[in-house]
Amino acid sequence: MKKTNTILFVPVGIMSATLSLMLKFIDPGLKIIIFEKLDHVAKESSGAWNNSGTGHSALCELNYTPEKDDGSIDISKALEIFGQFENSKQFWSYLVDKKFIEQPKDFIHSVPHHSWVTGQEDIDFLKKRFEALTKTAMFEEMKFSEDHKILAEWFPLIARGRENQKMAGTRMEIGTEVNFEDLTKKYFKILEEQFDVPVLRNTEVLDVDPEEELEWTVEAKDLNSGKITYYDAEHVFIGAGGGALPLLQKVEIEEKDGYGGFPVDGQWLTCNNPEVIAKHNAKVYSKAGPDAPPMSTPHLDTRYINGKKELLFGPFAGFTTKFLKEGSKMDLPRSIHLDNIPSMWGVFWHNLQGKRIKKSLS
Ligand SMILES: Cc1cc2nc3c(=O)[nH]c(=O)nc-3n(C[C@H](O)[C@H](O)[C@H](O)COP(=O)(O)OP(=O)(O)OC[C@H]3O[C@@H](n4cnc5c(N)ncnc54)[C@H](O)[C@@H]3O)c2cc1C
Repeated sequence: MKKTNTILFVPVGIMSATLSLMLKFIDPGLKIIIFEKLDHVAKESSGAWNNSGTGHSALCELNYTPEKDDGSIDISKALEIFGQFENSKQFWSYLVDKKFIEQPKDFIHSVPHHSWVTGQEDIDFLKKRFEALTKTAMFEEMKFSEDHKILAEWFPLIARGRENQKMAGTRMEIGTEVNFEDLTKKYFKILEEQFDVPVLRNTEVLDVDPEEELEWTVEAKDLNSGKITYYDAEHVFIGAGGGALPLLQKVEIEEKDGYGGFPVDGQWLTCNNPEVIAKHNAKVYSKAGPDAPPMSTPHLDTRYINGKKELLFGPFAGFTTKFLKEGSKMDLPRSIHLDNIPSMWGVFWHNLQGKRIKKSLS
């Protein structure tokens, strides 16, 4: 069966939810259909336990402020990310103001953001970062300290017991903790109940292909009945997280050539002791090792999940061949094609070089 005249299709997660909702506010007449292969929304990367819930604003993430060859700090990315997150906050304020969202505390909490480093080299870097950022209005409230007493007030679980170690930290009071799963669910509730957007759960998008006259055809399978339906669309947004690469590879356009990906597993240590959880009210980010991906930056996070305060340490990156938590172990092998072998080899080689440098340093 072929359905026509539908304008936009998106698979599910915080990205698709945000885009769909913003488009509906701009043009309520836009026809949107959303597909999700699981029976619930926001269970992959946007799931509350599957990310750190940091409202990334460059308040604590050291990888947004690289050191240039001349020793100065490049803060351009930090300013951009700060601005983008302010836009997100304005969008959420709008949703609360217009009563689309009643309880913002369900998904956002005020939690100070800190950077924390040890050793003179990293302390010097943090100080230079602090001096460069506090020249701007966005970061002028940032505090810097090398005083153990102050650091122990900011994040006692980390600073106490390390009195003999040289360390420094920065603090930004305006940091946030965001539950992206709750937010995604709220967005879908608004989309389904107030804009009549169909969210087809248990429906997997199998293929997306260009049609004549600037249209696209989407092949979707109802995983309960096995029925396949083809949808025509003017625009297709592939917001499938880890599922985006396999779909993109099926799209018959040459721009897709060369894309590949290495999946990385992320796991957390979770604290179950309420007394320990109560002692920490912060997000504390440190520095990733040389050449390590930003995801491997260790951090200790206060989280609010299902109305409960939690404490998570991590993430610990591991190797997996799955692109999605609910994916297949064959995801990586199936994604390797003749056209992406050079780019995947390039990533592999670059990382191998990084590892060699690390070994010779240690
Ligand atoms: C360890 C870790 C920590 C992170 N920490 C943070 C953080 O602190 N702050 C932050 O802002 N971001 C963080 N992120 C990133 C953030 O979680 C992701 O960028 C975000 O959740 C991605 O959302 P998404 O909508 O693109 O994808 P997802 O949430 O993964 O959603 C994609 C959806 O598409 C569905 N899907 C896939 N293929 C198909 C198909 N063929 N048909 C139908 N449906 C399909 C999936 O089932 C899934 O529900 C972190 C990520 C990780 C891994």
